[in-house]
Amino acid sequence: MATLDFLKLALRQKAIATTSSPTQPLSDTQYSAGFDIIVRDSGWATYQDFIIPQLSRLLGPLFNSRSHISVLEIGPGSKSVLGHLPDPLRRKIKRYAAFEPNGLFVARLEEWFRTYDNTPEETESPLPCLAHPPDIRQTPFVLGSGTESGTSDGEEKFNVVLFCHSMYGMKPKHKFIEQALEMLVDGGMVVVFHRDGTLHLDGLVCHQTVSFPTGVVHVADDDEVLDCFAPFVGGFVMQDVDADRALRVEWRKVCRALGRREEAHPDHLLFSAPNIMATFTQHATKLPELTAQVPLREENMAVKNREARLHRPAAVVRPTEVPHVQQCVRWALKHGTSLTVVGGGHSGHCLQPNVVAVDMGAFDQVHIVTAGKAEAEFGIASPAMVVAEAGCKTGDVVGKAMSAGLAVPLGARPSVGGGLWLQGGIGHLARLHGLACDAIIGAVVVHVDTGQVVYVGTVPGQHLPAGAVRSADEGDLLWAINGAGTNFGIVISVTFEAYAAPTYSVQNWVVPLSDKLEARRKLIDFGEYARKLPRNVSADAFLYWNANQLHLGVTRFESSTAELTLMPTPSPSLSPVGTIQRPEDNPKVVLDGVELFDAEMYMSGMHGGHGGGKTSSFKRCLFLKDIGAVDVDDTLVAAIETRPSPLCYLHLLQGGGAVSDIPSRETAFGCRDWDFACVVTGVWSRDQDGTEAARAAVQWVYKVVTDLLPLSSGAYGADLGPDPRDAALAVTAFGPNLPLLARLKHRFDPCNVLAYACPLPQLPRGPKLIILVTGESGVGKDYCADIWVSVLNKDKCLTARAVSISDVTKQEYATVTGADLSRLLQDRAYKEQHRPALTAFFQHQVRQRPGLPEEHFRNVVYGAADVDVLLITGMRDEAPVAVLSHLVPDSRLLDVRVQASDNTRQTRRGFHGGGGNDGDENRDNKDGKDGNNAKSNSIAMDYSPSLVFNSEMFGCEGARDFAVRGLFPFFSKNLQRLGDMVQTVPDFPSPGIDFGHILGISQQPGGLALCTSLLKTLFIHDWDDVHAVACCEAGGFIFASALASHVNVPLALIREAGKLPPPTVSVSKPSSHISSSTSGNSTTEKRIEMGRDVVPRGASVVVVDDVLATGRTLYAVLKLLTEAGIGADRVNVMVVAEFPVHRGRELLRRGGFGKVHVQSLLVFGGA
Ligand SMILES: Cc1cc2nc3c(=O)[nH]c(=O)nc-3n(C[C@H](O)[C@H](O)[C@H](O)COP(=O)(O)OP(=O)(O)OC[C@H]3O[C@@H](n4cnc5c(N)ncnc54)[C@H](O)[C@@H]3O)c2cc1C
Repeated sequence: MATLDFLKLALRQKAIATTSSPTQPLSDTQYSAGFDIIVRDSGWATYQDFIIPQLSRLLGPLFNSRSHISVLEIGPGSKSVLGHLPDPLRRKIKRYAAFEPNGLFVARLEEWFRTYDNTPEETESPLPCLAHPPDIRQTPFVLGSGTESGTSDGEEKFNVVLFCHSMYGMKPKHKFIEQALEMLVDGGMVVVFHRDGTLHLDGLVCHQTVSFPTGVVHVADDDEVLDCFAPFVGGFVMQDVDADRALRVEWRKVCRALGRREEAHPDHLLFSAPNIMATFTQHATKLPELTAQVPLREENMAVKNREARLHRPAAVVRPTEVPHVQQCVRWALKHGTSLTVVGGGHSGHCLQPNVVAVDMGAFDQVHIVTAGKAEAEFGIASPAMVVAEAGCKTGDVVGKAMSAGLAVPLGARPSVGGGLWLQGGIGHLARLHGLACDAIIGAVVVHVDTGQVVYVGTVPGQHLPAGAVRSADEGDLLWAINGAGTNFGIVISVTFEAYAAPTYSVQNWVVPLSDKLEARRKLIDFGEYARKLPRNVSADAFLYWNANQLHLGVTRFESSTAELTLMPTPSPSLSPVGTIQRPEDNPKVVLDGVELFDAEMYMSGMHGGHGGGKTSSFKRCLFLKDIGAVDVDDTLVAAIETRPSPLCYLHLLQGGGAVSDIPSRETAFGCRDWDFACVVTGVWSRDQDGTEAARAAVQWVYKVVTDLLPLSSGAYGADLGPDPRDAALAVTAFGPNLPLLARLKHRFDPCNVLAYACPLPQLPRGPKLIILVTGESGVGKDYCADIWVSVLNKDKCLTARAVSISDVTKQEYATVTGADLSRLLQDRAYKEQHRPALTAFFQHQVRQRPGLPEEHFRNVVYGAADVDVLLITGMRDEAPVAVLSHLVPDSRLLDVRVQASDNTRQTRRGFHGGGGNDGDENRDNKDGKDGNNAKSNSIAMDYSPSLVFNSEMFGCEGARDFAVRGLFPFFSKNLQRLGDMVQTVPDFPSPGIDFGHILGISQQPGGLALCTSLLKTLFIHDWDDVHAVACCEAGGFIFASALASHVNVPLALIREAGKLPPPTVSVSKPSSHISSSTSGNSTTEKRIEMGRDVVPRGASVVVVDDVLATGRTLYAVLKLLTEAGIGADRVNVMVVAEFPVHRGRELLRRGGFGKVHVQSLLVFGGA
């Protein structure tokens, strides 16, 4: 299918060949007719599937972080795409301006704003909350237009400048983007959607870029329609009427020759219309900051992949030392942009349009560490090692290792680089020694969340860069590098375990296949033959078409460090009479590791050897288990039969052996259970790069893998990138390890610096942390919330937002009473006047609908699905965490009580400023009275807030400091590591329960120590003031003992009655959530007891338990402590994990223990 761009070229060529008559630009009517075909009718799918969802996803966070949004749209056409955004986003737009040179469009656009669509239910304006009428200017957006266009007077600024329908006719494009950037308010964004291929914007760095390669335009195969469509695509008409008529006839022919017809659309011509979205912030021009520090790659890029070469990066830098790599990372973090990394340059995604590429080519050293040297350094028997820097290629490593008598199990082509060993690495030694990533025993990495250089595993001292420190997350990072290593940092070097270098014997032979049946029989034979081979032998097959016939080519490799044995002859059915090349025709040759590169069938035999000339290729690879299965074989044969070019082929690489010895979860490379890796390879001749032939080959590869995917055990991640067609493959790439990898990605690359590596799923969206900011009127809740939002956004790379839960009530109140909503929201004095009535109004509502507060809470949380941290002001403050946490069981819910003295509060409420811009007191009066609620802090609360902040004593700096000390710890890596250690076991101990194996933490290496250290450091009080750590058997014993010993505080053991010597105190205890779910009897009562004098009366006690679920155990423990003379005000509780869905806190509160402060390290949403 030709692209629109290709069609444009062809139409222009035809015009030159047909007539010498002068051309003229399209009239408004002609332009509008063509535009409607592309945008409104046939091309609408691109809007539905790409532009609108991308725009909504992108603008959501920006819109939600502001109360007013202003948008400038360049060339909107007759309707703005903004009208298709979700309702809450449209309502945020308060100002809309547009440049639209086409008078017809302007008229229609104005009309559209007046009568939104014709459907009766959509009578509301598309942007219903505009504060002023839309400002639509009938003029083009021109460079330096300043006063003429009325924009560049330095006054007019926008949150968003949107180029939605390509940058038609704007040259040079980057200048237009730069002009748009100057029109942004701080934090604003320029968004460009561009039809066709790539967007060349010299020197500008994008915030992000997303492609939509599968866009298609359907054009009715009708003379009249084509006469509108062709001039629009060509960009002109002829001045002379006769010449124009003649040219249109020719243009129809061109369209019909290039457009594809499909059965499903018999009356239409189809053209490929790939689309790209690029977004830019005010950081877009900051490239010089980086290039002043890090060398640019000067000569032509040696990127092998032709597809990648079509992308024009913002720049390619070539660090020559580790600090350069760190500078790249820090620059990207500072400017909110991403990077790509170039290793061997064999993937299609190592270069991305308008993204800075970091070429690792200067790190090209291979170091050999012999077994003796390694042993001397590490003091234990160590294997020989090969340290390969990130810019090395497979050939460099194999050659250098071989010269030292060593081998590393790498891939089959010498030019492939680090992407291979960081993501897998299937080669001829895989059955014997495993994948390349399995041989990685250490690595040096630049962290992409800090720019720090760290190392993991075994790295010989002389190859450690200056300043490198052992990673605090060593276990996880090395695990991730063993199979998914391109997503977690920029790897500087890896240490391979090396093996003795073997020699190889290789034989190739070819079996012609007469029909599908024979193909299936031979594939079955081949599968069976391969299965019987010993580990040092592997057989690869090639399915390809040659000389009008399907062929099965086989290459058999044998490796040995001793003298090579004679290989078993192939099974007779694999070398029948008629075989074009039999093994005996092509006797085995003995080769070393380097010579081996040229020995396989593709290089030496098939299609005249290496495609018979200069070719480009596109590959995707799936893992197959049962090569003889009918559906698998039929799909393989059908694939070759439908190949779009003669050189396309399928390559089956044998696996099994050492590859499948390793359990799936042991390394990130989770797909282990397969016999063959099937590489689907689309090949075209190099002079067809970027043409229809290349696109057809790529499309064929995706079609074949889509057909094969359900029959496979997963996809090979090494080839996958940000192309949306890779997403479905990527979810199958890591077997059971995908959820953990997603969590680790979030941990190691929170700002998505490596955004274009093999795609990993986003963590489930929704706030991870919800902070209810409570406190009395005038304490400064909104002020504090805003500071905490800015600190979390800036210093933690989190998306945080503050909302007031009472805004809905204010809106409803304003509607009912006619009060001025904007003054209610913003004018303190006005709000104070209305406070009594507002409070009465809310109370009346709640009497009518008792569930209203929960409903409001849910709505506010659901409306913030895009943020990491949600701060809510205007809350009721009656134990909100206990009351509400079950409604948001997947989030951690905290309340922070803000305090200030009565005087300060009175002053703030009386006067406007002073940081006390609270707005939401109609709800948060404890006694629900209102209007005059300057109540004092001394009111006794029957619950303990999670945290307390005194706004008066510490002010703005104090608020910032509070965020760092009080809120950041909830995002600590160690807490996330601890969470990653908890395995979820479905349907255990009974169906319907997802059992979070909290005690399993203690069975993980380092788990108990990590948990102990977190319990110690996150405790909000001082351990010096604690007299005892109390715990109840059995779970509590484990964590409490380790902690008590660590903080040097005695333990108070609580056991089932009858197990401790007298004297004891005891209370009854209903069974816990898990025990009752196994016994089936939730009311079974047991007694628990503790030694009467173990803890002195009035002592301060910390209760430590593994889990807080229903709270029944903790309730009994607290009762027991009371019985022993320890009041609730002297007790704190720390649990390792909380399951809020069971409402344990609420049980404690109702039982009179609301004042006991409860902290949980982890929160889980499971049942
Ligand atoms: C001709 C050919 C032959 C192949 N043969 C084999 C084979 O025999 N066995 C096999 O398993 N696979 C093979 N592959 C697949 C190959 O492993 C992948 O294409 C791999 O991604 C290429 O890595 P690269 O470094 O050459 O490419 P690049 O495009 O440079 O890198 C690939 C990915 O790795 C990332 N990356 C590279 N270096 C680093 C680094 N230092 N730190 C962090 N990220 C980094 C890049 O950003 C990119 O995302 C082959 C591919 C081709 C095209």
